[in-house]
Amino acid sequence: RLRIQAPSAVPLHSVIARFLSSLAILEQRDGKLNPSSLSAVAAAQKLGGTVTAFVAGNGVKSVADEAGKVQGIAKVVYVDSSAYDRGLPENYAPLLVENIKKDGFTHVIAGHSAFGKNLLPRVAALLDKQMLSDVTGIEGDDIFVRPIYAGNAVLKTQSTESIKLFTVRGAAFPAPETIGGSAEVVEGVDPKVESQTEWVSENLTKSERPDLVSANRVVSGGRGLKSKEEFERLIPALADALGAAVGASRAAVDSGFADNSLQVGQTGKNVAPQLYLCAGISGAIQHLSGMKDSKVIAAINKDPEAPIFQVADVGLVSDLFESVPELTEKLKA
Ligand code: FAD
Repeated sequence: RLRIQAPSAVPLHSVIARFLSSLAILEQRDGKLNPSSLSAVAAAQKLGGTVTAFVAGNGVKSVADEAGKVQGIAKVVYVDSSAYDRGLPENYAPLLVENIKKDGFTHVIAGHSAFGKNLLPRVAALLDKQMLSDVTGIEGDDIFVRPIYAGNAVLKTQSTESIKLFTVRGAAFPAPETIGGSAEVVEGVDPKVESQTEWVSENLTKSERPDLVSANRVVSGGRGLKSKEEFERLIPALADALGAAVGASRAAVDSGFADNSLQVGQTGKNVAPQLYLCAGISGAIQHLSGMKDSKVIAAINKDPEAPIFQVADVGLVSDLFESVPELTEKLKA
């Protein structure tokens, strides 16, 4: 089966559950909680036991208070310091290690985002533990499910580590309600480690369209678009007609049709929108690995044998240079 089923409830014995204590690492930017990082909280809740959230950065008390309202969190630990503001892993990893050691967590969880992927391996190394990445299912306090071989196989693995560290795929762990909680909010320990890394600047792609990873709808284009001009003429217009984010295959990115930040797949972004509509994409396994959890997959391809049709819920065998403008016009009308 190429498309992963929603994980079932964890059959944990209540006695074991009482001893579980999970730390969910939250992300923030400019004093705002990143809602997609709440997938770590959802995974911690699936384990059972006590859930503590952690956030660090400049002026993060307000983020900690906001996180305190998320359902199912017992405690929020925050560290207010500009040294951790941009989530530089060289600074953030020793900070987390100190806070993990202080409270003795059994599980440490982060989202499988650029931040989580950058951070957790360093934390695991400092603690001398093995970590698991891109977890899509939890079947017990030590049994985890994750895709391997670019999603070609699903691995169920048992961890014997005393502290289990893992990143989770957002699509597999939908964020909990952000209201109704009343967690205790406390300051954590700041080891004030001397770091040789400091954040200098960043150059972000600005877009009026929804964020690719959290968008409800995504319209992606592939090599079938033939050129950057055609990609830019057809794909954004269709995306705007649907209020969707724009995505691309790696072949489209490598051919210079689309920006690298738009790549969906194994070496790009993982998306799981309500609707994933793609045109001129063959459906290579590395592309599917980043979008196959989408609720509805619609594909336009002129080749009826294209592998994308094996995972698509809706398929249109046609020349995209005719069908995409036609669809855009009909949606606008
Ligand atoms: P193609 O495979 O060339 O497909 C183009 C499709 O367009 C064809 O199916 C064709 O029938 C159709 N087409 C052509 N003209 C028209 C037309 N006029 N109308 C309608 N349809 C038309 N790929 C990713 O996407 N994301 C990744 O993250 C990624 N990571 C990778 C990691 C590794 C380690 C490796 C080895 C590969 C990775 N790839 C990734 C690449 C992947 O294997 C494919 O090469 C890539 O996804 C193909 O992109 P595509 O479907 O746009 O192009």
